[in-house]
Amino acid sequence: QVQRSPEIQASRLTLPVVAEEQKIMEAIHNNLVVVVCGATGSGKTTQVPQFLYEAGYGSTDSSTPGLIGVTQPRRVAAVSMAKRVSDELGEDSRKVSYQIRFEGTTNDDTAIKFMTDGVLLREVATDIALRKYSAIIIDEAHERSINTDILIGLMSRVVKLRQELTPIETEDVEFGDFGDAQVDFSDSDSETEIISTGGQGDGHEFELGESMASTSPMHILPLYSLLPTAEQLKVFEAPPEGSRLVVLATNVAETSLTIPGIRYVFDCGRAKERKYDRTSGVQSFEVSWISKASANQRAGRAGRTGPGHCYRMYSSAVYERDFEEHAQPEILRMPIEGEQNDQRGWGAADDRSLLTTKSAPQELYFSSRLLSYIGALDSTGQLTDLGGTMSVFPLSPRFAKILVIGHQHGCLPYIIAIVAALSVGDIFIPEHQLDLGLDSRETEVGEGKTALFDNVARLEEDRREVRRKAYFKTHKLFSRLDNTCDALKLLSAVCAYEHEEDQESFCETNFLRLKALRETHKLRWQITEITRTNCPGVTGPFEPKLSPPSELQVKVIKQIIAAGFVDQVAIRADLAPNPPPTLTARRSTRAIDTPYLTLFPSVSHSTHGPPADDDDGVVGRIDPAVYIHPSSALATASAQLLPSYVIYSHIQRSAGPSSRIRMKTLTPIT
Ligand code: ADP
Ligand code: MG
Repeated sequence: QVQRSPEIQASRLTLPVVAEEQKIMEAIHNNLVVVVCGATGSGKTTQVPQFLYEAGYGSTDSSTPGLIGVTQPRRVAAVSMAKRVSDELGEDSRKVSYQIRFEGTTNDDTAIKFMTDGVLLREVATDIALRKYSAIIIDEAHERSINTDILIGLMSRVVKLRQELTPIETEDVEFGDFGDAQVDFSDSDSETEIISTGGQGDGHEFELGESMASTSPMHILPLYSLLPTAEQLKVFEAPPEGSRLVVLATNVAETSLTIPGIRYVFDCGRAKERKYDRTSGVQSFEVSWISKASANQRAGRAGRTGPGHCYRMYSSAVYERDFEEHAQPEILRMPIEGEQNDQRGWGAADDRSLLTTKSAPQELYFSSRLLSYIGALDSTGQLTDLGGTMSVFPLSPRFAKILVIGHQHGCLPYIIAIVAALSVGDIFIPEHQLDLGLDSRETEVGEGKTALFDNVARLEEDRREVRRKAYFKTHKLFSRLDNTCDALKLLSAVCAYEHEEDQESFCETNFLRLKALRETHKLRWQITEITRTNCPGVTGPFEPKLSPPSELQVKVIKQIIAAGFVDQVAIRADLAPNPPPTLTARRSTRAIDTPYLTLFPSVSHSTHGPPADDDDGVVGRIDPAVYIHPSSALATASAQLLPSYVIYSHIQRSAGPSSRIRMKTLTPIT
């Protein structure tokens, strides 16, 4: 019997899911797999784990002693939901834990474990029967994230296997949010609004409602995934007395997080999505219309605890004409290169029946093509010894390969640092995110000029100039080991960070992301430990502070990094065997204008639209070349001295129809 506080007890009783407890538990007792659908905020995430717990799941003196596992697509949801359920359980609060990549609170007492889907995916890789668990809840299954999709596929296997192993009861519960959420709640607390920004609305005008015109001050908080966790959790705190909470959120707030007391939602109808061209391998970020399902989801965030409203900043005509019914599942949009490839270690990714979405074979083909390039698979598709060693690392195959070959000339600690940093990503804050150019303010000032505005503008300009200079100076410092190699620049940043006493202010002054570097630190430790366990004698205990690599080591590191990306190499166009004449005719003076050609064609019609050969008779206006990204170490090199070959981590097209395809370079081949 769980003892809950009277307030929690009262608020639980208002949740639709609680009224269905009997029905849900009966379904779980009588079936191996149960799908629970219900409006957002109806209590699925917080209540169903408690139903299971109260029915004896996760307690040692029952027939179902295994843990109740709950997966979430996002870390912040795993942490905050664990906290909420723990609070609701009163005296049993210690029974709830969370586990995200490097952080967890699981202990002997744990009965309910919230985790990211990636964490469970890794656990399946070590124990396909998931013996630790008596029930698995896959939350937000409707979101179709790659990890969740693969997990659901795997679960069908897990359930069967467990039936064969022991006739003990096993259940999967999957949740999805469906339908327009209109649930009645009685008490309304502080006035709260949410604004969803994923891009720009179409400028549709709307009337301000009565309470919208409220004059109480606004307490504005941002919410997005790169924001440090402590900052993210602030949206759950009550705003200062007498003020209105306004949350400016990305898609994070669309589903997994329910911020209590949201009254109004402003939906711009847009989302910024990463797109991936399967044929060319080019990635791009595009702001486009969301799906009808997402729009309903966003609307459902308003009025959970009182009257509410969603202001849609687009017309119903746009909604009907331009919105798809559902968003395309991520597995069809993105390359499978990350953690999912772990499955390869035990041969499961070969099995297409595992995937819930049928049209992924092309993706699997590319995924195995990559694995054979880097030597993880042999010509018959079997896992090689190298591939076997690679699969023990919680990393994408490329990075695993780099590690396995990385212990020459004492380079392994450096290689581990680089791989960790590349794997975590987003270490450097890009120039365009630096508050260096406040264009809107400039135009505003330009109109009704006054002396005061002039002065303010000049001060602003001076301040920006100082920041810009500091930014370039910092990047120059990080390039000291080698001014052409981005992998080594990353290494310099990681090493400098580790030597610093006050890491927080170091990151601040050097335009680095503290959150990413902290994670890199943990990943370095984890990789070092895995290496020590699996390849005894190859490396010593984790030593965060490294001395600078020798000249020989610098050379070797570059070669090792290149070996993991053998298929992502580009040649300077003027040196190519048959360079397209349009490319060699031009002489470029700037590094970022110098054309390169990738080993595999990086241009396909789907990324560019059809070639313009019928209107003016000129065929081949499509630019077949790729160019160095302005953020690359090579971008500042003189065009005459650019390397013949470069290795890139990925290629991407920036927004705009005439934009070029840019390489994020990793290292030149010298
Ligand atoms: P679902 O999973 O069906 O979308 P949840 O279980 O997440 O619903 O939420 C159920 C209710 O619990 C919601 O009304 C939400 O406002 C409330 N709730 C969730 N987390 C918190 C929290 N940290 N503080 C207060 N209320 C919360
Ligand atoms: Mg939920």
